[in-house]
Parts: sequence; structure tokens; C-alpha cells
Amino acid sequence: MFKASKKISALLFLAILVVGTILSGCGNSTSGSASGGKTQLTFMFRGQPKELAAYQSTVKKFEQSHPNVQVTVVSVAPDQYDTKLKAAIAGHKIPDVFFYNPAQVKAYVNSGVLLDITKYVEGSKDVKLSDMWAKGVNKYRYDGKNLGKGEIYGLPKDISGFALGYNKTMFEKAGIPLPDKDKPYTWDEFIKVAKQLTKDTNGDGKVDQYGTGFNVQWALQPFVWDNGADFINKAHTKVTITNPKFVEALQWFADQQNKYKVTPSISEAQTLDTYQRWMKGQLAFFPVGPWDMATYASLPFDYDLIPWPAGSTGKSATWIGSLGIGVASTTKNAKAASELATYLSADQEGQKALVDAQIQLPNSVTVAKDWAANTSVKPANKQEFLDIINDYGRSFPAEFTYTGEWYDEFFKNIQPVLDGKKTAAQYVKEEQPKMQKLLDASIQQEKQSEKK
Ligand code: CA
Repeated sequence: MFKASKKISALLFLAILVVGTILSGCGNSTSGSASGGKTQLTFMFRGQPKELAAYQSTVKKFEQSHPNVQVTVVSVAPDQYDTKLKAAIAGHKIPDVFFYNPAQVKAYVNSGVLLDITKYVEGSKDVKLSDMWAKGVNKYRYDGKNLGKGEIYGLPKDISGFALGYNKTMFEKAGIPLPDKDKPYTWDEFIKVAKQLTKDTNGDGKVDQYGTGFNVQWALQPFVWDNGADFINKAHTKVTITNPKFVEALQWFADQQNKYKVTPSISEAQTLDTYQRWMKGQLAFFPVGPWDMATYASLPFDYDLIPWPAGSTGKSATWIGSLGIGVASTTKNAKAASELATYLSADQEGQKALVDAQIQLPNSVTVAKDWAANTSVKPANKQEFLDIINDYGRSFPAEFTYTGEWYDEFFKNIQPVLDGKKTAAQYVKEEQPKMQKLLDASIQQEKQSEKK
């Protein structure tokens, strides 16, 4: 979703050809030549079908309010996106406006891919920076040394993370008290409830309803952080996964399948994945992001949001992800391109269209407060999404480093731990040196890029 995936070079080469064809096929639009007197822009983005439709109609609205600008929209499937963007950059055909992962800010600024849009954002009459989530905008600020301050190299398309969702109907049927939206479960309480809700509901001898169904890549972080551990130290120089609190969190995560048996086994998940099980009403707890709301509006059960269970710190934690909308340094129409980026990120009218489509949390703090207060739109406790931003959400570890390979490495060989074939303690011992080597390389690479 937010992380780049690696592709083999042959695929990359193919993608260069494909993107080259797409972009050169739309009237030399990347060079921003005016055709028919209109300023031409190319906007490349990604998303699920409902997001694509919403963005396409929002771009149309932008064109209506900017009659001198014509936007060519290039929508890309999410799993293809990073490859296509890399290819576009390598081929010097960067779209004027494009989505990108905030983990790339340093690298894209240092290699001259992104335009500094500070003056356009600050000078815009449509955008009030003070009304945007600072945690969102700060992901795209970089002063050449530190992230989070300085010039603006993009605006958030959105900002948010997974809250913990639960199947309210299932709780009510089982006569189990509903979770408290203001007080997180302890790990023990969470397992206890998950066990109560793991059942063979039709008496055929096979369990068909489970407590949980978490994907390690998107749901391990809350448990690591709420147990007081992290993947990396504060200076972002050392991989810290051998911390006993980290090991404890990873083992507890794996134990949900192997020891507590509250989550489908790998073979069961292959028959029906946990996302499908949640949608069918067969899982008690599942992560829910604001981008899921449109799809979940028609679930055959009622659901709501709660804070993530809290480990030894007694406090919930989770990640805040984002996608950026950046402007290419090579654009011939910096002003129009920046206006499109700000329109998509922050313009009231643009925001309203995207929020009405139920695919994201509003970037405007004011709009978000009203949005959360409207409990008639499911989930009722949308306030949890705001609490994540205001209180307990954090950036992904790889957003602080020059490259993210060290972090991706952690998840590559983790399956045996989840299957109970390897202990968490053994795994982190094997992985730490590999990750540290990649982190050291990333630090070196950053130093090299600064020298240029
Ligand atoms: Ca059954």
C-alpha cells in the first residue's frame, strides 16, 4: 500500500517502454506545451476503483474552475505504481503532478525529482496551511538535512492509518460486552475476548468464526510500539529488533495463530483470506482505514472502531500513513501543476468531493471534525481516526531513512515465525545483522547524495 515493491529489471525495462508510450502518446504533455491554447498537465496516480472514480471526477471539477488548464489523467493499478513511477523518472518523463510515497522525500529532493512548491502553497488563496494536519504536511517538508521542517515538496493526498475495527453484531449475538472506545484492551483481555468469539458456528466440527486475522506487515507495528519497542533507535542509525520487548510483541503476534488459535491458520487463510472473512462477518476484529469506508458501508453487519490493544506501556499505538501529491521539478507549468496539487490535497471543494466518496479522512482539520461528529455515517466512532492523528499515530520507520530496504527485509522471511516453525527470538537474531547492513548502506547513500 505505502511501500515500494521490488521488481526485476526486465519488468522495469518493460515499464519504461509502457510509460514512455503513455506519456508521449498524450501530445507531449509532460513538456507542458499548450495545445488549443490550454495549458496541458499530466497527473499520474493510483488507487482502488472507488478512489480512481473519485479522483477522476475531482480533476474534472478542477478543470471547470481552471478553464485554461487541461489535465491528462494516467491512473495506474496500485501494485504497478511504484514501478511505473520509477520508470518515468528514469526515462525523464515525469508526470507534472504525481502521487509518491513520503519515504522517498529525501531521495527525490536530493536527486532533483521534486519541485519546491512552498511559495505556491503559501500563496494559494484556496489553502489554509494552518487548517491542515501538521503531521500530514510535515511528512513532505525537508530542509536539506531534516525531514519535518523547511520547504514543502508535496502535500498529502491523505493521512491516516488503520484503526482497530470490530464486528459489533457478532459481539451482540454472543452477549459479550462491547469494547470500550476510550479504554484499550490489555493484550490478555484482547486474547480472552478473541477466544470467546472463535467458534464452530454450524456444528460441522470446523471453526468458521475467528477472533482476529491480522496481516503482519500492516498490524505488527501497533503491538511493537505499544509494548515500548521499535524497529530503529531514535537517531535512526541502529536496528533495534533484538530488544526483548520487540521479541515479546512479535511472539505474541505469532501466538495468535499457534498458541491461542484465534486467527485462521495459513492453510485456512488460503481457502478464504482474512479480508474476505471479515467482509462475510466471520472475524471479530480487523483493521479498518478511512479508505475502506465506501466498501464497508454495505457490510452485512454493524461495525465500529476502537483503539488498538495496549501492551506493557498501557497505551495504544499505530502508524499514520500517507501518500504525497508532488510536482515534478521538470514541469513547464509549475504554477498550474502546483494549483492542481493543492486543489487535490486541500481545496474545500475538491476535499468535499473526495470525502463524500467515503475514501479518505478530510485533510482540513475543520472539515474532519464535522465529518467525525456525523455518527450516522458508519463507522460511528470515526473520532478514532482523529485520535490516531492527534494522539497515538506514528510514522513508518522507513520514512526516517534514506532508503527503505532495511525495513522491507524484516518481513521477507517472517512466515516461519507466524507458522510457529521458528521463535521470534531466533528470527530477530538472524535478521538484525542483515537489516543493519542495509541501514548502514542507506546512511552511506544519503551522505553521498548530500555531497553532490
Ligand atoms: Ca463450522
